[in-house]
Amino acid sequence: LAGRSFRHENTVIRIGDVEIGGDELQVFAGPCAVESWDQLLESAQAVKAAGAKILRGGAFKPRTSPYAFQGLEEQGLKLLAQAREETGLLICTEVMDTRSIEVIAEYSDILQVGTRNMQNFHLLRELSRVNRPILLKRGLSATIEEWLMAAEYIMAGGNYNVILCERGIRTFETQTRNTLDLSAIPIIKSLSHLPIIVDPSHGTGKRHLVRPMSMASVAAGADGIMVEVHPNPAEALCDGPQSLRPEEFVSLMDDLRRVAGVM
Ligand code: PEP
Ligand code: MN
Repeated sequence: LAGRSFRHENTVIRIGDVEIGGDELQVFAGPCAVESWDQLLESAQAVKAAGAKILRGGAFKPRTSPYAFQGLEEQGLKLLAQAREETGLLICTEVMDTRSIEVIAEYSDILQVGTRNMQNFHLLRELSRVNRPILLKRGLSATIEEWLMAAEYIMAGGNYNVILCERGIRTFETQTRNTLDLSAIPIIKSLSHLPIIVDPSHGTGKRHLVRPMSMASVAAGADGIMVEVHPNPAEALCDGPQSLRPEEFVSLMDDLRRVAGVM
């Protein structure tokens, strides 16, 4: 179902007046985690003012350490929904397990499956029955074939609205948090009709690499990018070093408009 042989034309996912996979480049931006109302509102206003249409932010966070901030959970979802009310931005947030699908679907527009859960087949099967587009991040050691098979799980149960997200894979390189595999973009475009976006924030782990890798992603044919933006990265509870400041995000959006042509 995910293959070009099943569907020749590109899949375009429509949510309200936002199209993902169409002519317009879509930017998902916002903090790694929802931390407070003030932090989220400031982030959302910055995202909106810069011209992006989708607010990202984790309420349920998959953290390496069990002692690290785990997210505000349902309270975080409520803040996201409130930010949507304030700004009109669409909401994209991560779902980590089957138990929380229903509550997350109630408060958000796009459900994100994180890299660590790309092959959580129970979760994928349950998401195949949800009436929301799914943003499926590439597993940190997943081949492109495995990634497309994960998309297939979601589609096999009837949910054809899958957006792929390249977010870097684990290699021997230590200069970056992950190795961003930009060749995945044209490879996915040849193998699949699904939209693909790129997350250069998690892909590199470094703020100064986000702009060049975003530009390269768009040049390589990505349908959008996902970028972490925080009003005060030094104080962020999660992923501060890779988060753009609002003014840096404005300038990135200007640069993207130049390379993308339409946005
Ligand atoms: C995220 O986008 O918040 C996230 C945790 O990303 P990843 O699953 O790619 O690490
Ligand atoms: Mn993050």
